[in-house]
Amino acid sequence: MVAKETDGSATADRDARDGVESADVLIVGGGVAGLTAATFTARAGLDTVVVDTDESILARNAHLENVPGFPGGVNARQFLDLLAEQATENGVRRRSGRVTAVEAAADGFEVLAGVGDDESESTDVDADRYVADAVVAASWSDASYLDGLDVETREAGSKEYVAVDDVGRTNVAGVYAAGRIAEKYHQAVVAAGHGAEVGLTVVHDSDVAYYHDWVTPEGYFTDRGREVPPGCEEIDGAERDRRHEAARERMREAFAEPHPEPQRTHPSLVDDELGGSTSSIRRSPSGRSSPSA
Ligand SMILES: Cc1cc2nc3c(=O)[nH]c(=O)nc-3n(C[C@H](O)[C@H](O)[C@H](O)COP(=O)(O)OP(=O)(O)OC[C@H]3O[C@@H](n4cnc5c(N)ncnc54)[C@H](O)[C@@H]3O)c2cc1C
Repeated sequence: MVAKETDGSATADRDARDGVESADVLIVGGGVAGLTAATFTARAGLDTVVVDTDESILARNAHLENVPGFPGGVNARQFLDLLAEQATENGVRRRSGRVTAVEAAADGFEVLAGVGDDESESTDVDADRYVADAVVAASWSDASYLDGLDVETREAGSKEYVAVDDVGRTNVAGVYAAGRIAEKYHQAVVAAGHGAEVGLTVVHDSDVAYYHDWVTPEGYFTDRGREVPPGCEEIDGAERDRRHEAARERMREAFAEPHPEPQRTHPSLVDDELGGSTSSIRRSPSGRSSPSA
């Protein structure tokens, strides 16, 4: 089985030898924390894959009013689509699938993903296989795939949180956790901020030379006799204006029409099999569908 690509990219990175896709970083979960972590690792130059079941809990929000930068609030489905587009634009490969197992491999981790809810798919020869140097769990609310690694977790009622240090490392080297699954406050901006922080921890733990992810005016470093530090970029006024215009066009396009996807809700509150809040389940242009959980 070859994972469905949600970013339209070619499967060039899927190793032809055995159908295994390799990456520097594999992020489990493409919600708020996972997509933000991925954007930071990819922008730093780490080859990054996100595997996701498209069930971000934020898709159940009615109107998102406390994310910085949106004074009038924003449609949460639209916000999630923008996070996904931003990750893709920065080179992240997004794959569709449910991660069912992460195992230690010779140099890093092997990750198995199935397409459905059935965990038996992890042992199916058809499961998607990935290898990665680092794994980030950003998969609220499923940490079961970490069982084989003895990652420390904390049970709280029906929930399981992954224990992390101050910057997102678990007790297993190379395994990190971000967002709600790491027991951060249940707010989108907190999940995004933690995703960024954990992404940066992965970068700092890697061999990549890195200072900050900054875009600065031309001369900001070099006029003071400094090299442009790794991770930073100096751009001149013309390039700045070009980027501003492209960004304005991009946002005009994104907000030109109401977002087509209906609000989702808690599966226990609806009786249709998709857990949608309306009887007419539509697909957004991004391919995001209504959740099963
Ligand atoms: C009804 C409701 C309204 C809310 N309103 C607000 C609000 O107004 N403001 C606010 O700040 N916060 C709000 N929140 C909270 C906010 O949605 C969460 O705090 C935030 O989404 C957490 O981000 P996350 O990345 O940790 O998890 P999520 O965004 O849920 O992302 C987790 C991702 O992991 C994926 N996943 C899970 N298991 C697997 C697996 N095994 N393999 C692959 N992928 C997997 C899921 O599909 C999902 O895409 C609301 C939540 C709800 C339920």
